[in-house]
Amino acid sequence: MVLEQLQFLAAIAQIDNHLAELQEELGDLPHQVKALEKEVRSRQQAVDATQKHIDDILQTRAHAKIRAQELVDKQRKLSEQQFQVRNNREFDALTKEVEMLKAELREVEKTISSTMITEENLRRMYEAQLADMEEARERLAEREHELHNLSSEHNDEINELLSQRADLLAKLPKNLVVQYEHIREYHNDVAVVIRKNCCSGCFNAVPPQRIVEMRTYKTIFTCESCGRILYPEEMQLLPIHSYNAE
Ligand SMILES: [Zn+2]
Repeated sequence: MVLEQLQFLAAIAQIDNHLAELQEELGDLPHQVKALEKEVRSRQQAVDATQKHIDDILQTRAHAKIRAQELVDKQRKLSEQQFQVRNNREFDALTKEVEMLKAELREVEKTISSTMITEENLRRMYEAQLADMEEARERLAEREHELHNLSSEHNDEINELLSQRADLLAKLPKNLVVQYEHIREYHNDVAVVIRKNCCSGCFNAVPPQRIVEMRTYKTIFTCESCGRILYPEEMQLLPIHSYNAE
C-alpha cells in the first residue's frame, strides 16, 4: 500500500519535472505576451481618451457657433430698434445692450478659435497614440504567434502528461495529495531517491536506521532537512508514457 503510494508520488514528481522542463522551453514568452497585452490595453485607453477629448471639443465649438449666431441675430434686431427709439434714454439702454452682446460675442469667438487650436493638437496626439498602439499590437501578434507555435509543438505531450498526472493523483488519498502540493510550493522535485545515504534533493545525510525502516514500506518518510518525500534507490519506478517516446 505505502509502496504503491510512494511509486505514484515518485511518478507524479517525474511528470512535474518533465512539465517544468517543457515550460522552461517556452521561457519568457508567456510573460512577454501578457506584458504586451497590458501595453496594448493601456495604449488603446490613451487613444480612446484623446478621441473623447476631441469629441468634447467639437461639441463645445458647435454650441459656441450656435450661441454666436444667436448673438449676431440679437444684435441686428437691437440695431434696428435703435432707429425707432423715442428718447435718448432708450437709445442709451439699447447701446449698452449691444455692447454687452458684442462683448459676449468676442468671448464666444475666442472660445471657437481656441477649440480650433486644441483640436489640431489633439488630432496630432491622436495620430501618434494610434501609431504607438498599432505598433504594440504588431509586437503582440508576433509574440503570440511564436508562443502558439511553440506551445502546439508541446501541446500533445503536455496533455498526455497532465492526464497521467491526474490519473495518478486520483489514486492517492487526499491527505497525500495535499502534502504533495504543499511540498511542491518549495521544491519542484517533490519526491526524490536516496542516493549514497543522502537525500538527492538537498544532499543531507539520511540516518541508516531510517533507510532500513523505509525499506519496510510501512510509512512515507520525508527528508528532515528539505521536506521532500524520500524513496529507496531499489524501489521500482512506474513507467511514464512520454508522447515523444524515445
Ligand atoms: Zn532533502
